[in-house]
Amino acid sequence: MHPCARCAAAQRTCCQRADVLVTNADVARIRAATGREDFVETRRPADPSYLEDDPSDPEWNVLVNRPDGTRRLLVRLAGGDCTFLGPMGCTLGEEARPNVCRLYPFTYDARTLTGEVPEYCPTAMLLPDGGRMTRLLDMSPTKAERWRARLYDELRADRSASDGAASDQVIPCASD
Ligand code: SF4
Repeated sequence: MHPCARCAAAQRTCCQRADVLVTNADVARIRAATGREDFVETRRPADPSYLEDDPSDPEWNVLVNRPDGTRRLLVRLAGGDCTFLGPMGCTLGEEARPNVCRLYPFTYDARTLTGEVPEYCPTAMLLPDGGRMTRLLDMSPTKAERWRARLYDELRADRSASDGAASDQVIPCASD
């Protein structure tokens, strides 16, 4: 049985517990693949630790958080499940899956992959003799590095677009 299926049989999975950040390009890929429009919203993440600054990656919060602490996230259903979680796992094909889903459990910053933290994985059950989740999941660091670079490129593009939109707003002069 696939490790993710073993996890799902034993406990709530990452797809039922995490808030999934999406870029505008993620949204476009998902929209093209599914025809859906109802899967994304702007809200504060449920876990307040998502908003904490990470000194090793100071760019992250600048790129993903709006001034009110909200960010663009996938919709979660009443019980917490991701809107794309089906009975057999994720219903999105790999090409449409959000960057951050593809990267988990790798950790990363604006420059590189930094390791792995399988915080949602039952590692004691899946790796009783130790080892790495990314190896068990047969995840390629080379592919992950491409997705990491794409994630930051897309986040920077989103930030530039929103900064540009803000600066395009007409601020009336006091004498107008
Ligand atoms: S998009 Fe797919 S992989 Fe990502 S949280 Fe939702 S169901 Fe899981």
